[in-house]
Amino acid sequence: MKSGGFFDVSRMPSRCIVLLGAPGSGKGTAAAWLTGRLKVPHVSTGDILRAEMGADTELGRLAKSCGETGRLVPDRIITDLVEKWVDVHPRDGFLFDGFPRTLPQAEMFDEILKRHAIRLDAVLNLIVSRAIVEERILGRVVCAQCKAVYHQSRVPPRCEAICNVCGGALTRRADDEVGVFQERWRVYERETAGLVDFYRARGLVHDVDAAVDVGDLYDSVWKALTS
Ligand code: ADP
Repeated sequence: MKSGGFFDVSRMPSRCIVLLGAPGSGKGTAAAWLTGRLKVPHVSTGDILRAEMGADTELGRLAKSCGETGRLVPDRIITDLVEKWVDVHPRDGFLFDGFPRTLPQAEMFDEILKRHAIRLDAVLNLIVSRAIVEERILGRVVCAQCKAVYHQSRVPPRCEAICNVCGGALTRRADDEVGVFQERWRVYERETAGLVDFYRARGLVHDVDAAVDVGDLYDSVWKALTS
């Protein structure tokens, strides 16, 4: 089929996607939008760990103690979670948000994908400065039920502390406090930022300016995935 035709595969959006970016760069927001648009599941290791915390499991207690100090959960525990997820879900698409977060996780993820004959299509690198992220995170409130994200002054809910989407209660994340944020940023720079080069060397990375409003972020993300 000619380029630009109806079934032109070169114009089909990528479907097996990893989102990289600092805490507060908008990975969760972009993923929540993309999951509806691409009809592929959004996998947030942070959300999986928060669910474990809510159920007070052994893993949840470990994740809580890591999260409270801004540290990462050990790599092997995270990659086991991811492998279990991949085992029981269709292989034609996913949006990983918050994973991989270290070089060993990225290497183990390669092995997992190879074992399941899955090819990673794209890595979105959301770029934003520390000052912007700090302002976002310190004002962030999240729906406890559907995970929709708001900002106390910039994207406030219609009714105070109530989610516009599902009516759930809005809460602040414990790891969004200022001291914990500083440690999360340090850990991001030390452990995670280098993954961009790891994936760039394979030609998978699409840089996206994430210091923009949500609507513009969606546009740039979509352009990156369909270009
Ligand atoms: P952020 O907003 O910082 O991207 P997440 O919601 O992705 O936060 O994760 C919250 C916490 O859960 C992290 O600070 C870390 O303790 C733990 N966590 C999440 N994903 C991973 C991962 N891939 N590896 C190790 N720890 C993780």
